Amino acid sequence: MLKFYDFARKYFYGFLSDAADLICPPNCLACQKPLDRSRKNYLFCDCCCQNMIVSLWEYCPRCGAIGFLTPGGRSDKGGCFECRRQTFQFSDVTVLGKYSELLRLMILRMKHDRDGIVSGNMARLFLSVRKQELRRNLPDLITPIPMHFIRRFFRGVNNPIFFAKEIGTELNIPVSLDILRRTRYTEPQFNLKPNRRFSNVRGAFAFVGRKELLAGKHVLLVDDIMTTGATCNEAARVLREAGAASVRVAVYGRTMKEEKNHNFEKLFSEKDYNLTNL
Ligand SMILES: [Zn+2]
Ligand SMILES: [Zn+2]
Repeated sequence: MLKFYDFARKYFYGFLSDAADLICPPNCLACQKPLDRSRKNYLFCDCCCQNMIVSLWEYCPRCGAIGFLTPGGRSDKGGCFECRRQTFQFSDVTVLGKYSELLRLMILRMKHDRDGIVSGNMARLFLSVRKQELRRNLPDLITPIPMHFIRRFFRGVNNPIFFAKEIGTELNIPVSLDILRRTRYTEPQFNLKPNRRFSNVRGAFAFVGRKELLAGKHVLLVDDIMTTGATCNEAARVLREAGAASVRVAVYGRTMKEEKNHNFEKLFSEKDYNLTNL
């Protein structure tokens, strides 16, 4: 029924999604609690949203780190305790939440979400809470972090592309899917110590678009997770060298050093969240 519900919402938003509500009121995609019918945009209950979203005041707009703000808070242009000594090629980061617990589980699900139900709802959740933030400095162009073709082949789902398209549609901004290319396979950043992450992605991207179309443009770079920011930094460097005026970043989850995610998965298995039959 979830598939029918989401299909109706996607293609016949008004009439059929109301009909779908009446036939079978939707449940939260994560915890299966019945949802209030007034909720129209995404299929997550308040409790699950609270678990996944941090407030704007909890993360550093310069690096996306959560909970390391200086006494100056978000208005401190020098960044947070985590990034003060670092320089980035991107100007700011918009984050939905911490890459742990439920948000981590949803991001992992999105990697194999072939029918796009979780991905679509996650994108709508992101936009419903971060649209104003993105609109503050509206980009001219959106582009996803490219995935190496080997990883794309095995996964079959390229979530940053899906995420970029959803943002582009909502904000009415063009999306370029083919201006960056992975030049080599890189080890997943998670497997590396922080000091190796920047060297791991050095030279990993090439600009393959038309420079005249990028010149002077403000670009929004989209990915699902940010670890230290090394990957986005490298992609932003390539875009800026190719002529972009500025690069901003939008991600669902920001990993934090001290996170231990394994306990949550033991406590809340996929069966508990009833995700296996989506
Ligand atoms: Zn829920
Ligand atoms: Zn910071």
